Amino acid sequence: MATKKKSVSDIQDNNLGRVYNLTYKSGRISRTEIARQLNLSLPTVSENLKQLEQTHLIERNGVFQSTGGRKSIAYTCVSNARVAIGTQISEHHIRIAAIDLFGRVIKRTSHEYPYVKSPEYYQQFGRFVNGFCQTLNISSQRILGVGIAIKGLLSHDSMTVMQGVRLGSAGVTLSDFASHLDYPCHLVHDVEAAAEAEIWFSPQIVDAVYVSLSYDLGGALILQGQVHRGKEYRGGLLEHMCLYPNGRKCYCGNSGCVSTYCSARVLLSEEFPTFEYYFQRLRDGDGKAAEIWTQYLSHLAVALGSMHMLLDCDIILGGSIVGFLTIEDIRILQKLIRGQSIFAPASDFIRIGHIEADVFACGAALPYIREFLPKH
Ligand SMILES: [Zn+2]
Repeated sequence: MATKKKSVSDIQDNNLGRVYNLTYKSGRISRTEIARQLNLSLPTVSENLKQLEQTHLIERNGVFQSTGGRKSIAYTCVSNARVAIGTQISEHHIRIAAIDLFGRVIKRTSHEYPYVKSPEYYQQFGRFVNGFCQTLNISSQRILGVGIAIKGLLSHDSMTVMQGVRLGSAGVTLSDFASHLDYPCHLVHDVEAAAEAEIWFSPQIVDAVYVSLSYDLGGALILQGQVHRGKEYRGGLLEHMCLYPNGRKCYCGNSGCVSTYCSARVLLSEEFPTFEYYFQRLRDGDGKAAEIWTQYLSHLAVALGSMHMLLDCDIILGGSIVGFLTIEDIRILQKLIRGQSIFAPASDFIRIGHIEADVFACGAALPYIREFLPKH
């Protein structure tokens, strides 16, 4: 694996990092304001701004009008001074997204390319990703790394897929991918990546259950603002909690798992082949679509009710269908859960998460951005 990652020690330096951080968090800020907020002398701030400008991490962005009549230069962070790449591997697709230093997707693509556990697959994956990086038209030195979100439970060191029933990816290692990529890379359980993205965009989260309502359901527990690491595997296994004993057969081999009732794929059929079409029909008042939805919400309410009973914290709904959910859906879900238990809170406890089509890829890329940003 090529090690093209640049040292970030330049902005980890104390004052330089503090000036960079304040500029990053402020959006636009003047030299005087930086000096005031950080209690630094103007010459010190000037020197730091000069260094940051020379390394293209910040740039000038207009001027502020001051009451004295003298205009002061506004500084802002160069959002794509560094970018990180996130990928999502599913049964039939590879999605690739590039995110900037603010976690925003700046470019994305997808390939219909079914997963097969074979050297050819990893080679083609590498071609797709390296080719995508070239289309960004930026120096490879500015690409921090590639996060690979995969369906499967990882070993504690994240080097190996321990369980990958859905994808058939058990036993796959990071080096299978790394040997074909021009950049540093890491593996992440896809739902964990989505939960990481949720934390990034809602940093006020303390404790929550993150439930990904995608083609396959998944979940992660967020504790103290961080995704909970399990004892054996990383990430949660909400999808295989038993919802109805002896219920529908699950791909894991058991029966009645949450996954078999609450995965969004149960909404699809020949009549409703895509989520877009299904929700369009549902919102247009189609009776069949409504019947499926009512049933789906009732199963989801049982599952979410149990999770809430155990953890007594907010539930955040994310995943592929989250963009189609309405406040009314959330109201119905909460009402159903309150009807099941006298312990369900009167206040709102379910909310719609961050809406981003490439939330898995975005979350997989974010650790590189976190690592790059100064820690003080
Ligand atoms: Zn199962």
